[in-house]
Amino acid sequence: MSRNEELFAAAQRHIPGGVNSPVRAFGSVGGTPRFFAKGEGAYVWDADGQRYIDYVGSWGPLILGHCHPQVIEAVEKAARNGMSFGAPTAAEIDLADLLCELLPSIEQVRLVSSGTEATMSAIRLARGYTGRDKLVKFEGCYHGHADSLLVKAGSGLLTFGNPSSAGVPAAVAADTLVLPYNDVAALEALFAEQGAAIAALIVEPVAGNMNLVPASKEFVAAMRKLTQDHGAVLIYDEVMTGFRVGLGCAQGLHGITPDLTCLGKVVGGGMPLAAFGGRADIMAKLAPLGPVYQAGTLSGNPLAVAAGLTTLNLIRQPGFFDALTARTAQLAAGFNAVGKELNTAFTAHSVGGMFGVYMSATAPQSYADVMACDRARFNAFFHAMLGEGVYLAPSAFEAGFVSAAHSDADIAATIAAAKRVLLAL
Ligand code: PMP
Repeated sequence: MSRNEELFAAAQRHIPGGVNSPVRAFGSVGGTPRFFAKGEGAYVWDADGQRYIDYVGSWGPLILGHCHPQVIEAVEKAARNGMSFGAPTAAEIDLADLLCELLPSIEQVRLVSSGTEATMSAIRLARGYTGRDKLVKFEGCYHGHADSLLVKAGSGLLTFGNPSSAGVPAAVAADTLVLPYNDVAALEALFAEQGAAIAALIVEPVAGNMNLVPASKEFVAAMRKLTQDHGAVLIYDEVMTGFRVGLGCAQGLHGITPDLTCLGKVVGGGMPLAAFGGRADIMAKLAPLGPVYQAGTLSGNPLAVAAGLTTLNLIRQPGFFDALTARTAQLAAGFNAVGKELNTAFTAHSVGGMFGVYMSATAPQSYADVMACDRARFNAFFHAMLGEGVYLAPSAFEAGFVSAAHSDADIAATIAAAKRVLLAL
């Protein structure tokens, strides 16, 4: 038995499924999850001492790679001054000021501890602000695990949502309206019919939870116009895309000013920190100023703020995103060249430091396209890549992430491994 197998067996004694978040269990790809012992730069080492080039980066936060010395130093320094106060600190102001400077759509911002808290709170705020209940989301978009967001589409576009998790009350799910991603006509039809009841529309502006599917230009414009015309709040869930696709986030790439934005992952530099913010008149409805309640014992935690601030100050340096975008595009281009050379259904696409790998001849545009990709083939590819020392997300439905620590040699080695693996499949 390998050490990973021993640990997985031991973990299952007292932890449901042996993991503290489901996709870590390799349920989608099968096999034994790797238990990680150490990370450094672009690499992680598992419990058996095997090294991998890491394209998960803790699901996005580690844009500087593992253990960036300045981030570690900032966290250590903060820890020596106190782990948590549950009271305001000066560093929180610096982080809030920086977020408002980097994202013009954010006039006021509140810090929380997870992406789920950020989206859940933003939706409550939008409902409190508008006095309406209905929420619009899109098929294949993940916004954390709050009740109203664990809903997928029924068969008819305008039918009420059905919960996609046990334990979500039907009454809660009924207020979530689910539409196909990148479908402008469906969006227009929904707003024409129910626009006056819609509190908010929440979207992943580059979807990264159904592999990687960018929103089309037309879709982006329609979401902004329809929410504005109908008095609904446009929420950009940039938990994944924020400071990952560019310094101005996806909203910068789109040239769109959302009403509210949710941030997470990179903004916390690997620590539990997330945020939501936006228009001052909406944020003014939040307690203690307004009637919408939201709180957190560890919100604005000093260690997390130190990691986030240090990370943001490093990635805002001139040229950072040009280099990261080029490096990620290099990986995608290499994968595409391999697919072409071997004449096999294997493509890739990237946006900033995010990429998708698809077992299909062309890059998907919708949830339906993603579902049509060959999952069994992805699973075989995933395991063979693991064998080659490359750690990809253990699911065909997750985006991948490149960090500033990935070198040209890492990218070249990854592309060469993919070619060997695809030849053998
Ligand atoms: N929104 C998006 C777009 C996400 O990708 C995620 C997590 N992957 C979340 C929200 C939830 O964040 P968390 O896991 O920190 O609760």
